[in-house]
Amino acid sequence: MDLTGKTALITGASRGIGAAAARAFVNAGANVALVARSADAITDLAEELGPQAIAIPCDVSQFSQVDAAVTACVKAFGQLDILIGNAGVIEPIAPLSDADPDAWGKLIDINLKGVFYGMRAAMPVMRQHGGTIITVSSGAAHNALEGWSAYCASKAGAAMLTESAHLEGADQGLRVLGLSPGTVATDMQHQIKASGINPVSQLDWSEHIPADWPAKALLWMCSSAADAHLGQEISLRDPDIRKKVGLT
Ligand code: NAP
Repeated sequence: MDLTGKTALITGASRGIGAAAARAFVNAGANVALVARSADAITDLAEELGPQAIAIPCDVSQFSQVDAAVTACVKAFGQLDILIGNAGVIEPIAPLSDADPDAWGKLIDINLKGVFYGMRAAMPVMRQHGGTIITVSSGAAHNALEGWSAYCASKAGAAMLTESAHLEGADQGLRVLGLSPGTVATDMQHQIKASGINPVSQLDWSEHIPADWPAKALLWMCSSAADAHLGQEISLRDPDIRKKVGLT
């Protein structure tokens, strides 16, 4: 996969899947804009990755910040070809009847509105020359889990944003897809395990895949090899997809 001359903006790039994706995209030759709230973490990662990477501190729950991040990315690299809407949170994990309404709404601001804000800011720029928009989804978009009402609702909504953006963007040269990564060994799974709520928290750590795997899948999804899946979510639990991505 050669992305030389292409520019990707990755939200949630300070750790976990987003940081692994940033490394994979830079290794494939792309310029990468690292977006997250943790300015120190993305600055350190950008320094590690070299001149192909820049850090843009940004809270995706604020449209003005997302819009400014897209503008800063285009100013630095001249264009935007790939948007990875990956930033996400799992808390509040709580029974629906006990959940704090403000915390519940804050998750929606990040996981659902944040995905919309990314698309809203990037699509006018990207449709000038085409590009790829990938949203990092979850099995929770389609299956309810106890204690995860905010997370499941946000991911279900984000899956509908993927379909909507495909419907509106396909004839403007935009490739829009979603990735459901399965369970991945990141900080988010530590939070899930600590909660002790629902079967995902009971999984043995060895059952989680490394963050490099979804990173590799995201790279593959930027190629025409994934065109059969445009407008859809693909799952890394699917053995056929793993084979296509080159994972054993
Ligand atoms: P993680 O290690 O906790 O990383 C989450 C990332 O999102 C961090 O970089 C965090 O950066 C960023 N983020 C959170 N809130 C943000 C905000 N308001 N503005 C900007 N960035 C924000 O989790 P992960 O496992 O890599 O998760 C990445 C994505 O994969 C999420 O969408 C998650 O729902 C999805 N996913 C994960 C799993 C799994 O098993 N791990 C399974 C299915 C789907 P800052 O805190 O620095 O802002």
